[in-house]
Amino acid sequence: VSADRFDVAVVGGGTAGLTAAIAARHAGASVCLIERDDRIGGDCTFRGCVPSKTLLELARIVHEARAAAEAGILDAPPSAVFAAVARRRDTVVEEIARDERDERFLALGIALLRGRARFDGPHALAVGDRPIAFARAVVATGSEPALPDIPGIVDLCRTNRTIFELDRLPARLVVLGGGPTGLELAQAFARLGSRVTVVEVGDRLLPGEEPRAGEAVEDALAAEGIRIVLGTRPRAVRHVEDGLSVDLDWGFVVADEVLVATGRRAAADGLGLERAGVELEDGYVAVDSACRTSARHVFAAGDVTGGLQFTHVAAHEGRVAGLGAAGKRARTDERAAPAVVYLDPEVARVGLTEAEARRRHRDVDVLTYPMERVDRARIAGRRAGFVQLVTAGRRVLRRVGGGRLVGATIVGPSAGELVHECALTIQTRAFAGRLAQTIHAYPSMSLAVQQAAAQLDPLGRLLAPRDG
Ligand SMILES: Cc1cc2nc3c(=O)[nH]c(=O)nc-3n(C[C@H](O)[C@H](O)[C@H](O)COP(=O)(O)OP(=O)(O)OC[C@H]3O[C@@H](n4cnc5c(N)ncnc54)[C@H](O)[C@@H]3O)c2cc1C
Repeated sequence: VSADRFDVAVVGGGTAGLTAAIAARHAGASVCLIERDDRIGGDCTFRGCVPSKTLLELARIVHEARAAAEAGILDAPPSAVFAAVARRRDTVVEEIARDERDERFLALGIALLRGRARFDGPHALAVGDRPIAFARAVVATGSEPALPDIPGIVDLCRTNRTIFELDRLPARLVVLGGGPTGLELAQAFARLGSRVTVVEVGDRLLPGEEPRAGEAVEDALAAEGIRIVLGTRPRAVRHVEDGLSVDLDWGFVVADEVLVATGRRAAADGLGLERAGVELEDGYVAVDSACRTSARHVFAAGDVTGGLQFTHVAAHEGRVAGLGAAGKRARTDERAAPAVVYLDPEVARVGLTEAEARRRHRDVDVLTYPMERVDRARIAGRRAGFVQLVTAGRRVLRRVGGGRLVGATIVGPSAGELVHECALTIQTRAFAGRLAQTIHAYPSMSLAVQQAAAQLDPLGRLLAPRDG
């Protein structure tokens, strides 16, 4: 069989691959996009961001209504109807999936090939029996759950690939893993009515974030009745009479469903990357700032590269990789890529944590402002959380204007929205004091950021209780 030829072959039709294919096509290359699933769209649309945020949003509505009933504002405590929740989850996924339907890519002249791709040589791929020849390629195969090696995990537990298929609410849910994915789903299911236990091996939640952020989240989840078990390794999952037992060092927890969210690994098995000369580092495809792998004609983007595993980062890298594969120059710049955990309280970070900043910079300053001093948070009755800004002196101008912002962590209502002005400040290398000088609307949540920064420039200070 003679091979079809393309300037650029993109492997994987998730966010990174779709963005890469469009970028390469716009730059004039002939492009094929290879996807093994029936539908393009990837984890974010079908098994990640979209269904999980839909569940969280519906769970928030139920939770707030219940809180309003407890406060006597509504006259009966509501309970969630899971069948309706599941229907909404599926309709939202369908609506968002329509943005990524095949026709849109076909109309751009991108060839869509269905099947599992594998590299057969530096410029050769096979999709099933079909040979493809390419000048350059983009690897965008994403990531998959990394499962702990314990009995029962594979056969008895759910992952993000199967948890969104549930049509009945589990009465008891055990979540293995205290990172963003595990905690978001723990809170969603708890608010929808499940009894939830979170088991985390480490000694705190959200290990990648500021310790204070993990503590605030732990307090909030515990206050909602979620049981949190830290510093404990699950040993096995097995059938027992009334469900599934998750065996721990010191006992067991029985559940109807067990969700494993203990981390991710690159989806690179069976891809034959070695035949294309692409090297892995710690299991992920290593890339430089042009998204180029160890094989100069092969690029990679998104979760498979093991950097920040977010949709917005996958899109950014996909664009860079697609342009690079089409022969254009482009570089990634992820200094100001935000990380958001969509819990209540929401956790958002951009740039460095305090500990990272102290390792990298001299002359670090940390400014915090508690949400309980923010009028909008008081009005909403959602006082948990804080804004923390981390600044560092500049090389020449030192602390003029408050130095430069190198990191921000926000915990509280709408943190994932507030973080973006900090992202812009970092991206544009503006003086941190600019955040204080900019008039913020009263009583917006965003005032929390301005008031944190007002410690650098009293001009921005509101009439609010003094620190301390
Ligand atoms: C539960 C959950 C919630 C999340 N929530 C958020 C969130 O709120 N915000 C956020 O920014 N990020 C979130 N993420 C992360 C986000 O989903 C990923 O970062 C993003 O999907 C990565 O995109 P990607 O294109 O690299 O990979 P993917 O979306 O995984 O796409 C890879 C594609 O490649 C295909 N593929 C793999 N191997 C082959 C092969 N050999 N041949 C052909 N095709 C192949 C796969 O079928 C898949 O379609 C979440 C993740 C999870 C699991």
